[in-house]
Amino acid sequence: MYIYGDNFRTFYQFITVDVLIMLINSEFLSKRIKKITDSCTHCGKCFEVCPIVPYTSIKGMNSELITKDVIGILKDENFSQNSEVWVNSCEKSGICIDACPEDINPREMLTYAKLKLQSDSEDLDKIQKKSRSYFRLLSNTIKFVSAFQMPPDSYQRLISVKVNKKKKSKNVFYFGCNILQTPHILFSCIEIFDRLGIDYEIAGGVSHCCGINHMRRGDLQTGVRMGVNSLEHFLAYEPERIITFCPTCQMQYTEYSDLYSEELEVLNNSRKSVFHERENPKIPFVHITKFLIDNFHQLNSLFVKPVKKRVGIHLHSGVEEIEKNVQKIVSSVPGIELVEIKQRRDHSYQCPSLVIPEAKEAMRHQLFNSAREANIDSLVTVYHSCHRELCGEQKNHPFEIINFTSLLGEAMSFEYSDILKNFKIEEDWDLVLKQAKDSLLEYGFHKEDIEKLLLSALDR
Ligand code: SF4
Ligand code: SF4
Repeated sequence: MYIYGDNFRTFYQFITVDVLIMLINSEFLSKRIKKITDSCTHCGKCFEVCPIVPYTSIKGMNSELITKDVIGILKDENFSQNSEVWVNSCEKSGICIDACPEDINPREMLTYAKLKLQSDSEDLDKIQKKSRSYFRLLSNTIKFVSAFQMPPDSYQRLISVKVNKKKKSKNVFYFGCNILQTPHILFSCIEIFDRLGIDYEIAGGVSHCCGINHMRRGDLQTGVRMGVNSLEHFLAYEPERIITFCPTCQMQYTEYSDLYSEELEVLNNSRKSVFHERENPKIPFVHITKFLIDNFHQLNSLFVKPVKKRVGIHLHSGVEEIEKNVQKIVSSVPGIELVEIKQRRDHSYQCPSLVIPEAKEAMRHQLFNSAREANIDSLVTVYHSCHRELCGEQKNHPFEIINFTSLLGEAMSFEYSDILKNFKIEEDWDLVLKQAKDSLLEYGFHKEDIEKLLLSALDR
């Protein structure tokens, strides 16, 4: 920190929160970047294990030169276009993390290199304009897809910011924003928590964004500000833990937690905030699969009927322990026969982040082929994001595609219909629009925007 003690407080009286966040971000980034650039020996091991490199123009290139150039980007020195290709194609599988002998997280290294490239190539105004417009489109798409699947009052209840300062809760279920496009998964989670009898509050929707949508587009300031706002909402409940579902939220609030907590600490000193008195605002972010493992016996006691299915699980590496947890949870369901299927787990940490078309195609090809060969009844998804992308494929295969929360629902004897999957299988969008017309109008959509939003939704 540049500023401490009394000077620190005086300083706050003269600057805006935005400027403050910008300064602290630079401070945080400089510290992290210095740590990385001081420790990296350009050994190239992270590049050598990266599963995305073979799909790019830099396949087979000298790993030491490429990694040296990535450090060049971070240090504002010379770098080659080849290193830019790598930086821009990282899909965050995290496979490189274990390969580094110097305790650097190369995924983090590439994230900062990308931010640097973005901020060097365009001025901040333009970057912020683009990220704002993307965020508006995303918010509208989420609302639009929800409008087909739940009444507006349910949607409003789910996304409202209901921080009641007097209310405390041991757990906050932070469901993220995109899960609203597959509400059957969200409702199943809520049903499971209710049946477990835990004390919890829910928080989600774009007003609780972790900030990733802006950060990915180079707008770190806005992203961090949003992430910190959401963090403030969660912390107001004084919870013991925040339970996540989305792998991106989980990664953001754990791998980049310092980015948020430094800001939070600074903001707490700069204005009267609800946790002004809290000594340590850091609380664990626990993925739902870990939470269920921690309550394993109680979870198992809720299973009331066997689910006689032979299943394979669609997995991604990248977020610690989730694969292991979900395998343990699914195999504990009575009647389930879990079989291993060959798949490219190393291709990104979730399907939508796999943006190189050849990589996505290779991942899907192997997944569906091995699932067919294994003669399974159900291909089980873990994340809502993968489910959204894969569920419509059920029409082309002899197995169902089902989320693990729905499978738990079957064992507990409850069911929330997967409306999005049904729509995708039927593919009669004219009929869907006709059926949803009243709901769309009730949500406040204008007739002239509907077609554009439908195209954007189908694209996701
Ligand atoms: S996170 Fe994955 S895609 Fe990114 S550099 Fe590491 S191994 Fe490659
Ligand atoms: S980040 Fe680690 S693995 Fe990659 S080049 Fe540097 S030292 Fe080697």
